Amino acid sequence: MRSPMKIAGSVAVITGGARGIGLAIGRFLAARGARVVLGDVLQAAVERAAEEIRAEGGEALAVEADVTREADVERLMDAAIERFGAIQVVIANAGIARDGLMLSRDPATGKVRRNLSAEDFRAVVEVNLTGAFLTLAEGARRMAEPGTPGVLFVISSINKAGQPGQLNYASAKAAVALWPKILAAELHWSGFAGIRVVGIAPGYTRTEALEAMEQASLEAVLKDAPLGRLVEPDELAATIALAIENEAINGTTIEVSGGVAFGPWQRAK
Ligand code: NDP
Repeated sequence: MRSPMKIAGSVAVITGGARGIGLAIGRFLAARGARVVLGDVLQAAVERAAEEIRAEGGEALAVEADVTREADVERLMDAAIERFGAIQVVIANAGIARDGLMLSRDPATGKVRRNLSAEDFRAVVEVNLTGAFLTLAEGARRMAEPGTPGVLFVISSINKAGQPGQLNYASAKAAVALWPKILAAELHWSGFAGIRVVGIAPGYTRTEALEAMEQASLEAVLKDAPLGRLVEPDELAATIALAIENEAINGTTIEVSGGVAFGPWQRAK
């Protein structure tokens, strides 16, 4: 297998890196010799995460950066270049959920209620879609200008298939799942074919949020998963590691879901 890119010695910028999947990816790559730059909204939290990586013998830099703010994302990328000289991997991982049905009926009054507020719709689109755009755009620029080969990752979700109760989240995740196709072609046309674009669409993954879920709902989810358990964050990180070192992986979104193709509501009875 030709593999011009190596994890060891590469510089990886990860948004939403203070915890959950982002931190797990950071630890995984750092353990294999990558220099990791974590961005997140809270300085103390992201610094703690970087310290964890350093305590394990890895190299990590923490930067307070809100992906919805262009200036923050620019600062994050600049900090990576300033500290480590170049960027080879960018992972637009920061994401939030604000679930709710668009409409429901109040059982007590029978009146129609609007559950998903414009504010919650916008917040999810702003972080999961605009934030991912800013991250990839600023990251790609830092690779294209010096001509550094690299990989841009977006984190989608199996909910891109259309999960009820997640109109905002599923819309954003469906959109970013298309980006590898669009951007790999754009970068090729623009003469930057050395920059690849890959999407990762996780299934239900072991994170604090999922562990805090009501047990019955979690069991219902797992019953529909051929894997029979939650996906481990390291299994996502290992897929990212594989994509970094395999230049044939480009312009595609890879599901890492344990076989869950659809939400439980779509299950054929
Ligand atoms: P977590 O909520 O555990 O971690 C997300 C991190 O992103 C948090 O540290 C959070 O900070 C941070 N963050 C939130 N808003 C911003 C922002 N505007 N700028 C920068 N950082 C921000 O999420 P997960 O680790 O579970 O998810 C990571 C990604 O994977 C997300 O894109 C998610 O949608 C996706 N995903 C997760 C799945 C799962 O099962 N867990 C399944 C499919 C996809 P704070 O905590 O302070 O808000």
